[in-house]
Amino acid sequence: MSTALLSIDLGAISRNWKALDARTGCETAAVVKADGYGLGAGVVARTLAQAGARKFFVAVAEEGAAVREAIGPGPDISVFSGHLADDADLIRAHDLTPMLNSVDQMLRHVEALPGHAFGLQLDTGMNRLGIEPEEWAALRDIAMRQKPRLIMSHLACADDPPHAMNTSQLKAFHQMTDGLDVPRSLAATGGILLGPEYHFDLTRPGVGLYGGLPFADAEPVVSIDLPVIQIRNLTPGETVGYSNTWTAARPSRIATVAAGYADGLHRTMSGKARVYSGAHACTIVGRVSMDLIGIDVTDLDHEPETLSILGSQQTVDDLADAAGTIGYEILTSIGGRYRRHYTE
Ligand SMILES: *Cc1c(COP(=O)(O)O)cnc(C)c1O
Repeated sequence: MSTALLSIDLGAISRNWKALDARTGCETAAVVKADGYGLGAGVVARTLAQAGARKFFVAVAEEGAAVREAIGPGPDISVFSGHLADDADLIRAHDLTPMLNSVDQMLRHVEALPGHAFGLQLDTGMNRLGIEPEEWAALRDIAMRQKPRLIMSHLACADDPPHAMNTSQLKAFHQMTDGLDVPRSLAATGGILLGPEYHFDLTRPGVGLYGGLPFADAEPVVSIDLPVIQIRNLTPGETVGYSNTWTAARPSRIATVAAGYADGLHRTMSGKARVYSGAHACTIVGRVSMDLIGIDVTDLDHEPETLSILGSQQTVDDLADAAGTIGYEILTSIGGRYRRHYTE
């Protein structure tokens, strides 16, 4: 078997959801956008529905359709991008709830699907998605008559608790929504950890479910084991990989493993990331190429059959640090070439 193995611990995803749910007194949804942060939206959503989640969020209507196929009728599936042109059929057929982001989306929705459920997304300062405060002042009474299911906004700096943006967005959210008779949601994973004043009626964790920061107490979910396909001996002065970026300074043993940047193991990890044989760390040498990576295994006392790049020795955030990115990007870059093994 020369394909790398991706193991996904569904039990850990359930326990992470329950642990985040236990930190609040309100309902906890689950964000399964981008194919469940790369881990498989259908299987992840089914697992979380079994754990008790009744509300799911995705980025676009097509993702919502896939999640509905997987979990069947019943749970709410809401779409962050709202109601875009040509979305009406998908929204109706799969009973999705668009989070409307503008007056235009509101008009499109009530015209195309009168009486169909929707929510509203407000911009409290992130300037990414949502209705602006001035727009909201004009729209608010009309929108409330249509009975939205939820009003939500999103925090820009929740992973940095002392950041002034958190309190400023909290204040704006109160100003825009206090006194309205509708459930409210502000917190994703980071917002849950900021404390109860950020929780409102519903939280929307994503990355914490999948073992990523800022949920430092998360159980790890993902492990990746790379098969060694060759081991060779180098004499001092020999080089490894494209562009000769690494030169042996001593007699060395180099293992070539079967995975590369096409598998989400970014080229920026070259020369920086580590892989593990048990507890023993080995460094990546030379450029990460599309399908192959060179590893210095000189100091191992055995010939490894596989080397671990994600698992108990190294989390998605450790690996992200080595690549100059964040755990979210490591997860969602994993790609489709792995053998996938789901455990309960
Ligand atoms: C992605 C996203 C979430 C989940 O965020 P995490 O940081 O992964 O918990 C919640 N709400 C919105 C609007 C999002 O875009």
